[in-house]
Amino acid sequence: MLNSTLSLEPLLQIIVQSATELTDTETCSIMLMDKNTGELRFEEATGGVADALKKVSVPLENSIAGSIIRKDRPLLIRDAKNDPRWHGGVDETIDFETRSILGVPLKVRNKVIGVLEVINKRGKEGFNSDDIQITTTLGSQAAIAIENARLLDKLQQAYRDLSEVDQIKNDFVSIASHELRTPLSVILGYATFLRDDVKGAASQQLEIVLSSAMKLRALIDDMINLRHIQADEIRLERSMFSLKQLILDVTKELAQIVTSKRLVLTTKFTPDNSFLNLDADRQKIYLAIANLVNNAIKFTAEGGRIHINVEFKEHKYWISVIDTGIGIPETDRERIFDQFYQVEAPLTRKYQGMGIGLSIAKGMVEIHKGRIWVESVVGKGSKFTIVLPSAADVQDT
Ligand code: ADP
Repeated sequence: MLNSTLSLEPLLQIIVQSATELTDTETCSIMLMDKNTGELRFEEATGGVADALKKVSVPLENSIAGSIIRKDRPLLIRDAKNDPRWHGGVDETIDFETRSILGVPLKVRNKVIGVLEVINKRGKEGFNSDDIQITTTLGSQAAIAIENARLLDKLQQAYRDLSEVDQIKNDFVSIASHELRTPLSVILGYATFLRDDVKGAASQQLEIVLSSAMKLRALIDDMINLRHIQADEIRLERSMFSLKQLILDVTKELAQIVTSKRLVLTTKFTPDNSFLNLDADRQKIYLAIANLVNNAIKFTAEGGRIHINVEFKEHKYWISVIDTGIGIPETDRERIFDQFYQVEAPLTRKYQGMGIGLSIAKGMVEIHKGRIWVESVVGKGSKFTIVLPSAADVQDT
């Protein structure tokens, strides 16, 4: 029972209850060391006295419990009232008369964490060596169970703290992305207006302003998308479209950067016809694939190759983005799909990005009931694969 009770309060109740029954005494109490005050504090007791006793402090100096801790061994007191270490104060608080006490230290890994005391043995005989044995055994088992329950408690608290921090982070991402979007729309709007009027060198400068503002908007849109995925707020807007055309649009959008990095980007479609028509949310599939191709470009050195392979087989659409880039160590392969996870250390990283592209891609694929995964060899390259079921198959299941 001790080992299977993981919550501190019920555990302490089991311990005091068992000790009382096993030693046939009137009551039993547990005091635990309070790390902050360095004093012992009653945490649990049997009988009607528990509530009155709880949280009452006992000093380590000149007390029976303190003496058990210091000597680190069981202590039997047959006549408490005549023991100089005995304080009548506790009895007065709970309206009880203590006659005899058997106390044992509660110890975990050589550290005393408290004291277990059984009080007033019933009958005339008083405490015997069996009682000492039983209480000692129970005490040592109980101490471990108490420590485990406390550790679990700490772990649960840490988890709650972490969830709170995670919520704060989510709220921040949400607020920041919305706040950034409005002024950026103004910049983009006016810069677009000016495009028609500005001539000469200023026109080139304006193009730089515009393209930087567009990049910024793409980043903010990513943040907004991430928030929608987290909040489970994305809805599918299905339409029939050509997967081949979508991929050609992605490659067209990224053509300039592919050329500037002297990368070779190839595509293959099987079958190369209308079977590649997909009933899905085009914008979301676009986002997922564009994120993969963007990464392939980013993490492949100049002169490298990127291949996009698209196939329709087994009623499914298979889209692979294969690069000859830096590759991903095995230990990171699962985690790169987590939000904000990047293989490189944040402060020393060479590659830009917020670490959310793959989590967005994953969210967009999974809402279509598809799957995404990566295979990779460090130093040789990576292959990201998306498998999307056909809409008819999803509706059937
Ligand atoms: P970002 O690219 O903005 O850092 P992502 O979520 O898109 O964020 O990717 C997370 C991480 O996964 C990247 O930082 C990188 O470490 C790794 N990664 C993604 N794609 C590739 C790739 N094609 N080659 C090597 N590493 C990659």
